[in-house]
Amino acid sequence: MRNRLYSRHKKPQPKKPLSNKSVFEIARELKELSRPTSSYREQSLKIHGLICAKCGREFDYKDRHLLTVHHKDGNRLNNPPDGSNWENLCIYCHDDEHGRGLLADYLKNKEQ
Ligand SMILES: [Zn+2]
Ligand SMILES: [Zn+2]
Repeated sequence: MRNRLYSRHKKPQPKKPLSNKSVFEIARELKELSRPTSSYREQSLKIHGLICAKCGREFDYKDRHLLTVHHKDGNRLNNPPDGSNWENLCIYCHDDEHGRGLLADYLKNKEQ
């Protein structure tokens, strides 16, 4: 009976390295970030459709958070309303496009 109160709320938490984000973690963050009101992303999805421009994978409404907007010229502030600077890429292709690990930073710094 000696250790009865001990370890009652003990829940070991595995430590995760901060810098090694998986695309799934990015996706989870995106899901939180994606709001129906968010601007150019919604525009781009509307214009180009729920399909990845690179691998051609199609998405539907419930997994659209896996689809991200890539700026062709690399300038996130260049958002012409006709969508000419946007490309819809799935997170896998987008991650690929920016190089591993950089996508998280790219998305974190978005203005909306
Ligand atoms: Zn893709
Ligand atoms: Zn991009």
